[in-house]
Amino acid sequence: MSQNVIVIGGGIIGLTIAQRLAENGFRITVLERDLAGLGASVRSAGLHFPVGRSTRVRSMTRFSQAHYEHRMGAIDRMRPLPMRVHMSEAAVERILPWFLPEAEMTRLPGPGGLVAPVSGLTSWAAQGAHHTDVGAYTAHLFQSMPPGVERREGCRVTELRDMAGGVEVGLADGTELHADHAVLAPGPWFGGAEFRPLTAGLGLRVKRIVAFHIDVAPEETDAAEYFVEDDAFLLPLVWARRWLFSYTCEEWDVTPDAVGPGLSAAHRKAASEILSCYVPDWAGSLSAGRVFCDAYSADRKPVIQRLGAHGNVIFAGGANGAGYRLAPSIAEHTATLIEPHFAEERVA
Ligand SMILES: Cc1cc2nc3c(=O)[nH]c(=O)nc-3n(C[C@H](O)[C@H](O)[C@H](O)COP(=O)(O)OP(=O)(O)OC[C@H]3O[C@@H](n4cnc5c(N)ncnc54)[C@H](O)[C@@H]3O)c2cc1C
Repeated sequence: MSQNVIVIGGGIIGLTIAQRLAENGFRITVLERDLAGLGASVRSAGLHFPVGRSTRVRSMTRFSQAHYEHRMGAIDRMRPLPMRVHMSEAAVERILPWFLPEAEMTRLPGPGGLVAPVSGLTSWAAQGAHHTDVGAYTAHLFQSMPPGVERREGCRVTELRDMAGGVEVGLADGTELHADHAVLAPGPWFGGAEFRPLTAGLGLRVKRIVAFHIDVAPEETDAAEYFVEDDAFLLPLVWARRWLFSYTCEEWDVTPDAVGPGLSAAHRKAASEILSCYVPDWAGSLSAGRVFCDAYSADRKPVIQRLGAHGNVIFAGGANGAGYRLAPSIAEHTATLIEPHFAEERVA
């Protein structure tokens, strides 16, 4: 008999896991308190780039890149992207190994494109980047789940119990569900009272993420520009007829339900200071954008692990602002935690 898995969270990570497990014969129920994809996923810039600062994240990036290459064009707003990478000459030796061999990093004579020449800055062409409208892709995943996947929106989990032989999941409408396993993919909501007894020890924190929109229409051929040392990038959103500028906001321990969508003067100041180094003409154009948050781990590696005394709940998250990029690999790791267990039970 096939095993039941309840996937809690209908964001890019929960849905990628649900699809992965359903393809392998598990009976899946997805529980999403809101509409699927309306958490961190709908706000994502949706940039995949072939880089990882640790061996593990590089290997996860490589897996995800191959997964997405097979699905390129699954929705209209998913397309390969040329990319230029900028870093100081002094940092080249340290940073170049972060890029996958698939990036085929090629040194350029100058920054090219939008980026102003900066003394000591080196510029590189990179292969393997792509952009996706993650909100649209998440909706596509939700709609195209294999037959038999039960999808329940507006279904808030209020209790999650790891028991001998399975899990119990309490819902806000007073009903209770039982399954062999639960996959907990709550994005930045991991610390909610309903999950805290299981997630308190994970060491995750929530950090705000801020990206600005620049009302200049990009060309089809424009490249994404990645400023590695600032962990910032410019992304051409051709379909939206604007650019997006993402920089690293260091506001920690925010609460997802309290993170307003609004940008502050401090965000604009911090972003324009960085952008003025590279594209000074645009530094004064940061008047709109998107603000949300994500779950971050101390070592910046995603967290995929069993929770509780019986290990029937598997946590999948801590995406560190790279949940779109790493979702396929997170799903694969999650499956390997469930599948051997499943195989053992089938044999027993
Ligand atoms: C501005 C911004 C830009 C970004 N840019 C990029 C980028 O360029 N590339 C990239 O790879 N990543 C990017 N990210 C990060 C990426 O968006 C996230 O890592 C990813 O969306 C996390 O997916 P998730 O499924 O874990 O979380 P979510 O999408 O938040 O999904 C979690 C879901 O769980 C649900 N949930 C929570 N509690 C409950 C409950 N009690 N019961 C039922 N359901 C519940 C929520 O409603 C939510 O839908 C960006 C993020 C932001 C905010």
